[in-house]
Amino acid sequence: MKKTYGLIGYPVKHSLSPAMHNAAFKAMEMDAEYKLFEVRPENLKDFFSYFREGLSGINITIPHKETSIKYVDALELVAKSIHAINTVSVNGDKLIGHNTDVGGFVKALKEDLKFKPASKRAIVFGAGGAARAVGFGLYFDDIKEIILIDIDTKKAAFLANELKEDGCNAIAVENNQHAIRELVLNSDLLVNATPCGMKENDPELMPSEFLHENLVVFDLIYSPRETRLIKEAKRKNIKAINGLGMLLYQGALSFEIWTKQRAPIEVMKKAIS
Ligand code: NAP
Repeated sequence: MKKTYGLIGYPVKHSLSPAMHNAAFKAMEMDAEYKLFEVRPENLKDFFSYFREGLSGINITIPHKETSIKYVDALELVAKSIHAINTVSVNGDKLIGHNTDVGGFVKALKEDLKFKPASKRAIVFGAGGAARAVGFGLYFDDIKEIILIDIDTKKAAFLANELKEDGCNAIAVENNQHAIRELVLNSDLLVNATPCGMKENDPELMPSEFLHENLVVFDLIYSPRETRLIKEAKRKNIKAINGLGMLLYQGALSFEIWTKQRAPIEVMKKAIS
């Protein structure tokens, strides 16, 4: 019988995940499909009842990554630590929550950006769901210090506290250009985990003159492929990557959790390139 997987979120229309997973199923000659499910927050509980009746696995995106936790039966270790899930698998009659955003981010960081977090300092813009995966991913990989900056300083402080409670050296600072200049200067990695840069007329994340030659840049945005931040970094010969690698690797990890088979990574990459 055909297996059905999918992505839930609100909205989900422009997702690249169906192209990526359907290409993988086809390449592996699996009788399976991957669909989009636009689920409003008030319908989340009903969706999980529907899921239990016949779906084989799902991915989860904004705004359901945290609220879905209460509808699964168990959490794997990473998901438990970071209090957010982006993947659900089925084990008998149980639903298991996973977080592959963390592994996806770390793999892109190490393989595509060639950055090793141990004894380094990172500055992360954003304190939402993506920054949560970034923060914990960096911490699990032995980063020395994480500096979090969000428009909403309280949100950054909240995430910094959660990381600190787990033993990570994390601080939140105000989104103030004077302070940011010094912090960027003393950092090895800059991550953009905000949507700033998705629209052509978005303001600069920070003045590009702060970018320096000892920094590498990871912009989680993949649409457009080159944000203003990435363009400025490249203009200064600074190594910079977009979010396509993270998207690919988190998808490949989800595929492997669901199917227990190695993901056809090149096929998946081609489908989203
Ligand atoms: P989110 O939950 O909305 O969090 C973004 C946070 O950044 C919000 O707290 C927002 O504050 C803050 N922010 C916005 N502009 C800012 C700025 N200029 N300076 C500092 N903080 C700012 O979004 P998310 O789910 O974390 O996603 C963030 C980005 O990562 C999106 O562009 C998304 O597409 C990308 N992403 C990529 C992948 C991937 O696989 N590559 C995976 C997940 C997410 P306000 O709410 O006050 O605006």
